[in-house]
Amino acid sequence: MNALNKKTVDDINVKGQKVLVRCDFNVPLKNGVITDENRINAALPTIKKLIADGGKVILCSHLGKPKGEPKPELSLAPVAKALSEKLGKEVVFAADDNVVGENAKAAVEKMQDGDVVLLQNTRYRAEETKNGEAFSAELGSLADIFVNDAFGTAHRAHCSTVGVVSHVKEAVAGYLIGKELKYLGNAVETPVRPFVCILGGAKVDSKLPVIENLLTKADTLIIGGGMAYTFLAAKGYGVGTSLIDESKIDYCRDMMAKAEEKGVKILLPIDCTITKNFPDPIDAEIEIEVVDADKIPADYMSLDIGTKTAELYATEVKNAKTVVWNGPMGVFENPILAKGTIAVAKSLAETDAVTVIGGGDSAAAVNILGFGDKMTHISTGGGASLEFLEGKELPGIAALNDK
Ligand code: ATP
Repeated sequence: MNALNKKTVDDINVKGQKVLVRCDFNVPLKNGVITDENRINAALPTIKKLIADGGKVILCSHLGKPKGEPKPELSLAPVAKALSEKLGKEVVFAADDNVVGENAKAAVEKMQDGDVVLLQNTRYRAEETKNGEAFSAELGSLADIFVNDAFGTAHRAHCSTVGVVSHVKEAVAGYLIGKELKYLGNAVETPVRPFVCILGGAKVDSKLPVIENLLTKADTLIIGGGMAYTFLAAKGYGVGTSLIDESKIDYCRDMMAKAEEKGVKILLPIDCTITKNFPDPIDAEIEIEVVDADKIPADYMSLDIGTKTAELYATEVKNAKTVVWNGPMGVFENPILAKGTIAVAKSLAETDAVTVIGGGDSAAAVNILGFGDKMTHISTGGGASLEFLEGKELPGIAALNDK
């Protein structure tokens, strides 16, 4: 699958047309303040192009998981404000609890060429994640043309990514989707070797399946974060109360055997940073200990890789020519548990290798740590980049018009 086989914003004439653009404005918020604007910045090239070409630009996105009902703390209002500043022009926010309501319709009605309207969080509507027909039609009724530029949600068949396509005249890809597929595609399909993949984070069940495909591509797989403990359990280690997916222990054992057959190295933590309880709040001061990976006591959990592991992983990165990283090495939101993630991020920042970061949290970690501009490409999509790495077709891209 390749965005180049799909029509893009360069293939259409939007002058005077109403263009619904599905963006990925699913940004991290703390007390109503956006803490990482990477996804907003990444959406700007497509939006600016459509404004410059005289389109009437109607933006939509989801934010967080309001579970089908209005949640004021997940309103897209802060995004409208940030966008207005970045674009240097007013972005009218259509604050409808049902997304395509009276405000949205009136705002769209008033639009002049080059104007921008942002709709409310699409996941305020329960049908959104079910790809329901009625909401898809409502979204489509606002526009002539649909542009999907939400790479971060391209792996989901939702109303605003897939359903809407059959209710507009044309559906094309934006620049961000094109860029993401280029960097991720090149890294995985034609990597300069050695090619090292680093996997971490907490979504163990959705992330483990990617390993099978990566074993056919990578020279080394580095496993950290919440991913690691199912592997350590598969090796027969006690992992205490660490994050684990019992149903995947056999799978991990299989993967280790397959890796050995194929001559792919799998690196697992050799030491762990452990605590008795998960920090609450997440950045609370906590007491930690670093122990060997086979010495985690039954009533402790590992929330970061240990010092020896961080060194081992950094050395592997130093020798790589292509590195793809998805998911932090530990609970990096807590400074005491961020050391493993910092060490890995630093090793990526210091190498001349091609470095591609996939994953909302890994991207946030790299940016917060100040290493953002040292990476070749920071993907805006966690799940989407992962499914791409898994070799799956992304429905949000498949649905667009072919060239
Ligand atoms: P996304 O998929 O949302 O784009 P991501 O792929 O970067 O993000 P996630 O799988 O969401 O990463 O995991 C990030 C979360 O994993 C962080 O909140 C971090 O605190 C948590 N995490 C990392 N290591 C551990 C661990 N050992 N135990 C529990 N949670 C962990």
